[in-house]
Amino acid sequence: MVMPWWLLLIFLKHSSKVTPDSFSYSNADEWKDAFPMCGGPMQSPISLKPNRLTLSRTPKLKFADGLEDGEIEAVNTGREIKLKLRPRNRDEPLVQLISFSKPMVGVYTLAQMHFHWGPEPRSPGSEHAISDKFTDAEAHFVFFNNRYGNFKEAVRHFDGLLVLGVMLHGSDDEQQFMFPTLGMETQLDSISVPGRRLIINSDLNSFRTLLRRAVSKFFSYHGSLTTPPCNPVVSWMVSAKTIPVSNAFLNNVRTKIYEDESKKGLLVKNRRPVQPQLGRVVTQHISIG
Ligand SMILES: [Zn+2]
Repeated sequence: MVMPWWLLLIFLKHSSKVTPDSFSYSNADEWKDAFPMCGGPMQSPISLKPNRLTLSRTPKLKFADGLEDGEIEAVNTGREIKLKLRPRNRDEPLVQLISFSKPMVGVYTLAQMHFHWGPEPRSPGSEHAISDKFTDAEAHFVFFNNRYGNFKEAVRHFDGLLVLGVMLHGSDDEQQFMFPTLGMETQLDSISVPGRRLIINSDLNSFRTLLRRAVSKFFSYHGSLTTPPCNPVVSWMVSAKTIPVSNAFLNNVRTKIYEDESKKGLLVKNRRPVQPQLGRVVTQHISIG
């Protein structure tokens, strides 16, 4: 039985701890026992099969000044590699996204981005699938709705977050545009265990190219965080364009990042299985400029 709305609202109101310590990807089916919203409606990820087509204005991206003098802070959280992207020495978000599409009309600020991946080449690594096809990895750009001021408050509201998912596939073809990893692949040893942090100074303008491509053609639907407590507060935008990422990056992510301090377990397969669509609308957006 699907959880009734009134109960969901109570859970949402009281969900303050955003990243609980006590969950594992090996028993994702049991998350709902400790985190009831994970067993509720509107869960993510899903296999995207659009049942609505719409012509819509491309979301506008407003980047911070001084991206050529940028900084990436990468952290191993034990569940993912999380990145903060910002102009150097300024605690200013990299980008704001202005969406003109219903129901996620609004202005959103980038809070962080992170990756999900699989254990080996050609094993599913993305969380979403497009028509049942998974890719090697998926990047999530997590934005909060400016209406709520910050991420922590936003996760308590149904229209609180917008997450832009970018499906990634491994490639060695350096002639084409690649997902900007900015040399991170050679420094992953320094964040091999949870809690470690890595700072890279770099020109972040390549994220401008990446994000513009990602929002030019996309799917949208209403869903949830894909980790406990699984708040159903996410307007998902998943790019219809799969972006190549270097195989060197994927190989090092799969073999150098551990989920625990004692290096017992490599962090691989940090992806939640697809969830039932349960009558939700999945829209394919065709840009009209
Ligand atoms: Zn994610």
